[in-house]
Amino acid sequence: MPEDTDRLRALFDAVATDGFTSAEAIHNCISECGLSIDDHRLRTMRTRLQAQQQRPIDQEAFTDIVRDELLTVSRIVRRQLVVPDWPEFCQAIRRIYDEVAPDRSGANANYIPILRDADPEKWGVALCSVDGQRFCLGDVDVYHSIQSVSKPLTYAYALSKEGEEFTHAHVGMEPSGRPFNDLSLLPDLRPFNPCVNAGAIMIAGIVASGSPDRSAREVTQDIMDLWTALCGGVGEVRFSEETMLSERATAHNNFAIAYLLQGRKGLPRNVDLHKTLDIYLSCCSIEMTASMLSVAAATLANGGVCPVTGVQVLPTELVKRTLAVMQFAGMYDNAGAFTFSVGLPAKSGVAGAVMAVVPNLMGFATFSPRLDAYGNSVRGVAFCRQLVDRFTFHVYDSLSGGRTGCKQDPRESQRNRKHRDLSDLRWALSYGDRYASKVRDLALTSMIDICLGDGDIEDSELAVIASTLEDIVGSPIEVSELESLARNRQAQALASAIPPFEGLVARLAQEQVHLDDNARELILESAFRVACADGEVEPQEHERLLKIAEALAIHAGVLQLEIDRFQRKLAKR
Ligand code: GLU
Repeated sequence: MPEDTDRLRALFDAVATDGFTSAEAIHNCISECGLSIDDHRLRTMRTRLQAQQQRPIDQEAFTDIVRDELLTVSRIVRRQLVVPDWPEFCQAIRRIYDEVAPDRSGANANYIPILRDADPEKWGVALCSVDGQRFCLGDVDVYHSIQSVSKPLTYAYALSKEGEEFTHAHVGMEPSGRPFNDLSLLPDLRPFNPCVNAGAIMIAGIVASGSPDRSAREVTQDIMDLWTALCGGVGEVRFSEETMLSERATAHNNFAIAYLLQGRKGLPRNVDLHKTLDIYLSCCSIEMTASMLSVAAATLANGGVCPVTGVQVLPTELVKRTLAVMQFAGMYDNAGAFTFSVGLPAKSGVAGAVMAVVPNLMGFATFSPRLDAYGNSVRGVAFCRQLVDRFTFHVYDSLSGGRTGCKQDPRESQRNRKHRDLSDLRWALSYGDRYASKVRDLALTSMIDICLGDGDIEDSELAVIASTLEDIVGSPIEVSELESLARNRQAQALASAIPPFEGLVARLAQEQVHLDDNARELILESAFRVACADGEVEPQEHERLLKIAEALAIHAGVLQLEIDRFQRKLAKR
């Protein structure tokens, strides 16, 4: 079919120059969107590319190489993965990573030497999308004990082995609002939930009681195997004997909890208390890296299917339960405040790890050993907060009704979104729509005022304003009309004590509540384009842009991203 041939041709053209492409160009295209050539969906293609070696690849050879994995290749080349603009998204992540790095508040956990002596400067962030796009920054390959990050998975394991009814007959599903190692129980004598120590020890008891013939070490190995599957085999899941020995030597409080559980309602099926505690402490002593934990988190985000291998590791129903528990109890006795401000299921551990899940989109993990008063990694929490400040990841960001405070949704490609919104606006404007006219007027005035930042407006600037207005707002303007508007504004600036730009800023601040995100972004973008027109953003233009962004309630970081993107484009030329 001709249409099919066209699509194939378009795919080829996207990676080719002068009728040829290369293995390197194809690799680059794959890694730019965050995937690796080792991806399970590209296996055949990888082998065929290897056979190609250095040879130039024409369209026929290309078709042959991608034939069996066309769907994935097409999604990659056409930027249709779950986060289409991966490089831009990663750039925003890098910015947050850098902003959080200088924070040296908090202190390492000090109850065992291995945690006390860990390098507190370590700082790593790793992400993995549900399409397997990965990005890592800093100390993401440092092995550390996962400590309490183990708890949700041991819970999931117990659910999968013993079912929900049996499991929850022994452990509650209520937030405790108390420190993680507290000895209190629910009125019916069950521990509050699987994430406080009492609950996790009970979960270990459930797991132990279900495997009477297996040693604590063997049961731990089963759980480690589950972690391996969850993180798609990226990296080796290890066990730290040193951590385990120290944990056991200092576990007085955990022993007290275990005896309390045994003395009150009893451990399940009269299982041995020491075996129970050994499993609990061994799970705390499993060692992984942030890079591995991010893939595990992505598997949870993907309903139990590991994005890196495509294997269903846990049933989706069970992942739902696990995420719910993480949401209300994952961040120690700060879980309520964390859900309030960040709104994501997450779990932290005292070695400094945080593992968080953005359902249906991605998982991420951070590592930084200094902890706050609750036992959460200071930088890890700061990273989560900033991430949710910038992106629509809070569980209730979906309630925004068109206004997300200019938070971005990385699921949508900038290009698609702008294109769709602009065509709506143009259409409405052509019928004289009042709202669209207001947006046009604010964009036009903002552009004029950007140019007047240096007191004057040149003919070349007028031409840029006219073309920007036509280009993005879809509304042509006569040069003579524009000229008289600009001269008027210039005269006002000379005549009045309050500069008209201040008036514009006040008007934008007042109007912005009635404008949706797209309209506000469009106004800023018009101003931004005019500021860039002569090849660089001058200091006074930058200052005015920032004021416009602030008046429009657009996060300064969003503007900075635009400026960076522009500068990158210039540098490429
Ligand atoms: N191993 C610690 C304990 O049981 C738990 C660590 C944590 O909360 O991350 O006391």
